[in-house]
Amino acid sequence: MTTSAAKIFVVDDDEALLQTLGWILKDKGYDVVSLPNGDDLLERMEVEFPDLVLLDIMMPRVDGLEILELIKSDDRWKDVPILMLSSMPPEEATVRALGLGATDYIAKPFRVRELLARIDARLKEARELKRAREEARSRAEMVDILYEVTDSLKPDEIYHILTQRVARALQLSKCSMVSAQPGSDAGVVVAAAENPMLRNLEISLAKYPELREALDAQRTVLVTDVHTDPLYEEVRKEWERDGVRVPTRSSIVLPFSLRGKAAGVFFLRSTDDDAPLTAENVLFAETVISSALNAIERAYDLEAAESDRERFQFLASTDPLTGCVNRRVMLDRLEQELAGARRYRHPLTVLMIDIDWFKKINDTHGHLVGDTVLRKLADILHQEARAVDIVARYGGEEFTVILPDTDLEGGTASAERFRERAAKTDFTEVGDPIHATISIGVATVNSNEEISTEEMIARSDAALYRAKQAGRNKVHQ
Ligand code: GH3
Ligand code: MG
Ligand code: MG
Repeated sequence: MTTSAAKIFVVDDDEALLQTLGWILKDKGYDVVSLPNGDDLLERMEVEFPDLVLLDIMMPRVDGLEILELIKSDDRWKDVPILMLSSMPPEEATVRALGLGATDYIAKPFRVRELLARIDARLKEARELKRAREEARSRAEMVDILYEVTDSLKPDEIYHILTQRVARALQLSKCSMVSAQPGSDAGVVVAAAENPMLRNLEISLAKYPELREALDAQRTVLVTDVHTDPLYEEVRKEWERDGVRVPTRSSIVLPFSLRGKAAGVFFLRSTDDDAPLTAENVLFAETVISSALNAIERAYDLEAAESDRERFQFLASTDPLTGCVNRRVMLDRLEQELAGARRYRHPLTVLMIDIDWFKKINDTHGHLVGDTVLRKLADILHQEARAVDIVARYGGEEFTVILPDTDLEGGTASAERFRERAAKTDFTEVGDPIHATISIGVATVNSNEEISTEEMIARSDAALYRAKQAGRNKVHQ
């Protein structure tokens, strides 16, 4: 058998041929709809979506080419392969049929084996096209969702957008964000697509074993069918005892952390009316959530800033992707620190950091993954830096760290720590591990030197250049 029940429509006024083709195709495992003319072909297509159409050209009343034109004028059928069959002189008929958008042309009489091979090839192409379209669709939706999320400034609003939009993208009836800690018996639903008005509903985790498992093990859980999954064994007994009918069919639970601490789960459910959830859906949800986390963290920081002036300042001074201070603020701070260093006769070190071969990471894994790498590197720099150090995104994939009161030796040692930590890090949040290295240029000003911020940056940049020249994944002065 070639395919699992692809549906083929055969339209031909030749009764004998129609019957023979019907038998052959059914024998090959296809689902066949045979029509002696094109009169109600379009009506039938509306009800039983074909995967492929075999269409005779010469037929009484309406001929195949006219029908082809009608089919191709409807966007719904634009990806359905149409194979024209005809005993018309090949040249003339082929040119006309292909010009009207037919996928292939087969001259009568044909060899059955050749016809079958062509059908098989065209069906494969159509499936490939459908998959590619779906992929593109989910990517476009993802980018859309992330734009909306990044634009909003309140955590509540973000939770609301995430649940609504992901539910819509995956055509699910239920999708919620639950705030809960590992080991806890209760959680709080902070947003739910199925009930937009809902606010902070407390739930008992005992009823949701997959939710508990995801929280406690801090791993993504996919339950394809709650009626058979072992995780649900105990709960199923309770349902039986209490005579409860549960509409849920499958679920996905994704744990998420904020500022390095487990904060809750993203909870997707399909009911018996929806299609069961798949590993592909997991990937989509994971990518959306991991990319939205930064916006959520930023929204919480913003909420913590009390006055309007503070909020405004926060927005104007941080880089939205990484949460680092931006270049403008960094240059201001560097100027202040340089003045302080001169006044108090302290040394000062600046590190210029650049990700190695970052373009390749983007090219191989896509821009969203590239963004994740940038965010994760920013996290590492923040974790390794001292409280007095200033971590900034200089631009693109370059970061600057200002180390007050630090000499060349100390600065180089810090840079080595950053470099080693990055080299050991898995930069992905989803899927196969991704490794990246960084190169660092170190520039130090000693107490007796007069130097401008521009010169200081230029020096660290020159040192970075030397680190790259030395082979990357290096620290250079
Ligand atoms: P090298 O080791 O010489 O530094 O190689 P590289 O590929 O890292 O260097 P290059 O400067 O040519 O590439 C930097 C890339 O960073 C190009 C740009 O598309 C990408 N980039 C800049 N900003 C962002 C961003 O915000 N997100 C993502 N995903 N990529 C970015
Ligand atoms: Mg680079
Ligand atoms: Mg660069």
